[in-house]
Amino acid sequence: MKIGILGGTLDPVHNGHIAIAMAAMEELKLDQVMLLPSGDPPYKRVRTDKRDRLAMAKLAAAGREGLFASDLEVQRDGATYTVETLTDLSVAYPGVEWIYIVGADTLVKLDTWREFPRIARLCGFAAVSRPGCDRSLTALRAQAISACYGTRVDILAVDGPEISSTAIRKRVAAGESIDGLVPPTIAEYIRKKGLYLCDYNEAQILDRLKGMLTFHRFTHTLGVANTAQRLAPKCGVDPMRARLAGLLHDCAKSMPLDEMRALVEANLTDLDAEELDSRAILHAPAGMIVARDVFGVRDPQILSAIRKHTVGDGHMSPMDALIYVSDFIEPGREDFLGLEKARKLAEKDITQAMRCCAELTAKHLRSRGQSMHPRTQQLLNSLKA
Ligand code: ATP
Ligand code: MG
Repeated sequence: MKIGILGGTLDPVHNGHIAIAMAAMEELKLDQVMLLPSGDPPYKRVRTDKRDRLAMAKLAAAGREGLFASDLEVQRDGATYTVETLTDLSVAYPGVEWIYIVGADTLVKLDTWREFPRIARLCGFAAVSRPGCDRSLTALRAQAISACYGTRVDILAVDGPEISSTAIRKRVAAGESIDGLVPPTIAEYIRKKGLYLCDYNEAQILDRLKGMLTFHRFTHTLGVANTAQRLAPKCGVDPMRARLAGLLHDCAKSMPLDEMRALVEANLTDLDAEELDSRAILHAPAGMIVARDVFGVRDPQILSAIRKHTVGDGHMSPMDALIYVSDFIEPGREDFLGLEKARKLAEKDITQAMRCCAELTAKHLRSRGQSMHPRTQQLLNSLKA
């Protein structure tokens, strides 16, 4: 029996992995191919939980004859080494011939794998060319590995498609479609779990926010995130993107005013004097920059919602409106006159709720003899039109 292994971070597994697994199966007459997501190395920042990577590998295998996903490395704690996996496999299944499938970029690094000479005694290799990799160089390397380590290295006739997990993660972060790059079930999994929206997962974001915000502000932040996520489907907004905008909307709130001003001035040109003078307003554009540069948020919708959450403007998208309103009505807000009305409206119509919140702000400012920011006036005007 011959079984192929396609191992890696598989973050996420994609149509390129599936294509090379199926091609290897066909060309090398493998009985099966195992998708093998690696464990999480303890000292390396892996953005996606290994359980999510395994779940996606299972979705990739579902309904594909001969393909299966293994939790062998995910079960182990910390970094996982191929040599351990292959040793375990060869003890558990003595009659099996193992073929490790690698892309041309991985082929280059093979001899740096821990105890590679031993690995080479436990399996053969199938190398697949990848866009950007020179085929003749791949052949040369395959030949060198064979000669030095006495293992067989086959080069598949077909090239891997131009798909990488890195490109997929970037597309998701930017809010672009990944149709055709991963099976639809995996695209849905990524969307539902909110994977790849920025450089950190939620546990890591919360950890960072705890160090950046007061306890009161942190609690408010969670309230806004929960509210935005819950109301998102009614507003036609992606719930996990709304959640992330909620989590990060106040991320610059505790920054010293001078620092905030310097950060904003260095990055934005469309600021007015009022904005620059008020910490209550300035933390929104500053937050957008921190979300982008510290947390790696790339989605223009999320960045816009953070930017506009304090004063709004005349062009509020559904996501902008959702965060603006959620900030007002989250359950931790101390009660004030009109809050209940805004909460009720938010359940039915986010635009009406936004108008209510902007009017309440206007009233509050008037009662304190303060003027309203012109962009809040533009927001109100846009709703009259
Ligand atoms: P990342 O961009 O995160 O490195 P990746 O797309 O390279 O992701 P990995 O999980 O690193 O995917 O890859 C696992 C194995 O599959 C590696 O040996 C890699 O070379 C190979 N591979 C991945 N995509 C392709 C492809 N499109 N064509 C050929 N080989 C591929
Ligand atoms: Mg890779």
